[in-house]
Amino acid sequence: MQVDVIKSNLEIVKATENDLITNRAWLEINLDNLEYNLHEIKKKIHQNTKIMAVVKANAYGHGAIEISKKLNSLGILDFAVATLSEGIELRKNGILGNILILGYTKIENLNYVEEYDLIQTIIDEEYAISLLQKLGKQKLKVHIKVNTGMNRLGVNSKNISLIKKLYEDSRIKILGIFTHLCVADSSQEEDVQFTKKQIMELETLIKSLEAQNIYVGKTHIQSSYGILNYPELECDYVRPGIILYGIHSEKNIKTRLPIDLKPVLTLKARVTSVRYLEPNSYISYGRTYRSKDKMKVATIAIGYADGYPRNLSGKDAKVCIHDTYVAIVGRICMDQLIVDVTELEDVKQGDIAILIGEDKRISMEEIAQKSSTITNEIASRMGERLKRITFDSLKSQSKEKRYDRNESY
Ligand SMILES: *Cc1c(COP(=O)(O)O)cnc(C)c1O
Repeated sequence: MQVDVIKSNLEIVKATENDLITNRAWLEINLDNLEYNLHEIKKKIHQNTKIMAVVKANAYGHGAIEISKKLNSLGILDFAVATLSEGIELRKNGILGNILILGYTKIENLNYVEEYDLIQTIIDEEYAISLLQKLGKQKLKVHIKVNTGMNRLGVNSKNISLIKKLYEDSRIKILGIFTHLCVADSSQEEDVQFTKKQIMELETLIKSLEAQNIYVGKTHIQSSYGILNYPELECDYVRPGIILYGIHSEKNIKTRLPIDLKPVLTLKARVTSVRYLEPNSYISYGRTYRSKDKMKVATIAIGYADGYPRNLSGKDAKVCIHDTYVAIVGRICMDQLIVDVTELEDVKQGDIAILIGEDKRISMEEIAQKSSTITNEIASRMGERLKRITFDSLKSQSKEKRYDRNESY
């Protein structure tokens, strides 16, 4: 069935999608923008450094399978996920290349890591010792995570004897060693010093392993803000997450390297009801909003169960209808919210509202700031009830055309 689907830029395109997808609220995923961001990131890293795309939490809400397929088609062959199940899901859907599980996997489930050709992180000393004790004859592919000051996961960087034991065990195939920075986004001097110390700790460990003739495997340290704030670092991989999706973690964040990003995700929902209110009418739960004058309001079919944060209530958050920005009034409900459309002519049932999109006033950075969080949280909590429609203008084009486009980046 052919239905009208509205693209991020409000251009109407015909999509052969089941119209249930746009019945209520949905996400439009622009894969051209993903490609653009990937090229922008490539410009910021050293020539021999590869991108390990972080696609955990359903690719930060964007849909891990479609995102990873597109990245595969663009030559990305390294991925990071948080869990075993996320890794299995990618493999079951034909994703090629290395898939590193960043988090804990039960020792009893390591057979799945082998079966699906995934890579497990050795997350701490206890895990390392369990592996040494319990591994059978299998060859388990791993990366070693080193704790350099975040104190979340990792083997202590001073614990060289244990790390050496891991490298020397023939059942364990160590493909890489890495750490994670905890204040790479900050430009405060103390934080910069802390980060440099973290980097140095990993480098010192690697040097002393190499001095003992151990080949340590691939190295990696930087996630998004490590890339943008510590560009002199040259590891085998970088691990960008949030910037791949075209979003900064926070509004007005300053980085040493600027980067031009295009948001991949647009969140849209239907207007379901339009009504006129007399002065002194209350709107939504708790009667937190009372109209002063006569007013026209529209109900939109999206709520906090879809990941649109409830704490945006009363924060003057905006949504876009017919190219106009209108304010949310009253409390945001589980499945619905209400906006002031007094100034908007012709708004009617079935119209489309954009809740998160490219424009600054409804950017994910703006939404995150108003709900006192970071975009990583907003994106990764986009609800399961939202269908994801992916756009990829390159899919239908010939190879030559594709090449031309790549040239223009
Ligand atoms: C989530 C995560 C990343 C990606 O972080 P961004 O800030 O989104 O780029 C990289 N490395 C590890 C270990 C992570 O957990």
